[in-house]
Amino acid sequence: MQTIEVGSAKADGPGRFEGTLKVGVMPDGAPVEIPVIIIRGKEPGPVLWMHACVHGDEYCGTFNIHAFLRTLDPDEVHGAVIALPILNLTAFRAYQRMSPFEGFNNGDMNRCFPGRANGGFTEQAAFAVYSALKTYATHLVDFHTAFTPNTRWALYADAGGEVSKVGRRMAKAFGYENTLPTPAGTLVGSAMMTVAAEGIPAYIAEAGGTGTSFTPETVKDVAERLRNLARAIGVLKGEVTDYGPLTLFSNFHWANAPRGGIFKPSVSCGQTIAEGDVVGTYFDNFGDEDGVALSPASGVVLAHHPGPIIPQGDVLIHIGLNPQRA
Ligand SMILES: [Zn+2]
Repeated sequence: MQTIEVGSAKADGPGRFEGTLKVGVMPDGAPVEIPVIIIRGKEPGPVLWMHACVHGDEYCGTFNIHAFLRTLDPDEVHGAVIALPILNLTAFRAYQRMSPFEGFNNGDMNRCFPGRANGGFTEQAAFAVYSALKTYATHLVDFHTAFTPNTRWALYADAGGEVSKVGRRMAKAFGYENTLPTPAGTLVGSAMMTVAAEGIPAYIAEAGGTGTSFTPETVKDVAERLRNLARAIGVLKGEVTDYGPLTLFSNFHWANAPRGGIFKPSVSCGQTIAEGDVVGTYFDNFGDEDGVALSPASGVVLAHHPGPIIPQGDVLIHIGLNPQRA
């Protein structure tokens, strides 16, 4: 059995292995070491790689991975699961989306893959992760959040051929209804699209909101859905649950807030809206209503700003376009 080695986590046989992968160095010389867990079965098989907190304040993803791993017995695993629950560790520590140690680049790790050995802080971290990811993964699941606890949608890499076919199978098995088959050329630099270009099927679940805006119910539900996805790709045995048809989008539309202010949203995730519908209401500092924000497109609400204050230019709403049942 060939050893799976990610940093100091070395799985040279069946069982559960923990270690860390060094992805950088702090200004005081302390190493930045991210947690790695490998759960390996007796038999060879697929290698399901999962990671979370590419955006450091999307803590729900870390809980999703921990909850899933708690359900997993190495004896039931075919192949292996490699889990990195906190990818962007310095951002995680700072309660931020991006690392505070990022210099001149904006440091969105979801645009930094495959990384660069001599790039910015986040590019170098992505580079350290990517070489192991590319070496071992046969499938990737990447956890993100949007803003509010009711966020519940997904993407898979629709890069063509087997990658699209298996990606669709993963999406169906995870079963979040609202799903974007993401074409090549979109979300360039995400781990999902980068591995897909190398022939590795990849899936992103957007579950829960940033920071503490998520519930134990979401985490429990995700862990169950992840087991179903693992069954669909052969990491676990057993019948695959059918969560029902998907609603697929042709693309998505981000709209930024044209102005800032005290803001109360009036839409919710999963809701169908039309262009021109009211998305939320602004109030002035005296508590009087001060205008509304309108939807710039028709489709399904994937994410929306939670309020209670919105900075000008922040993400107002994220809409899935041209919903089709599939
Ligand atoms: Zn994210």
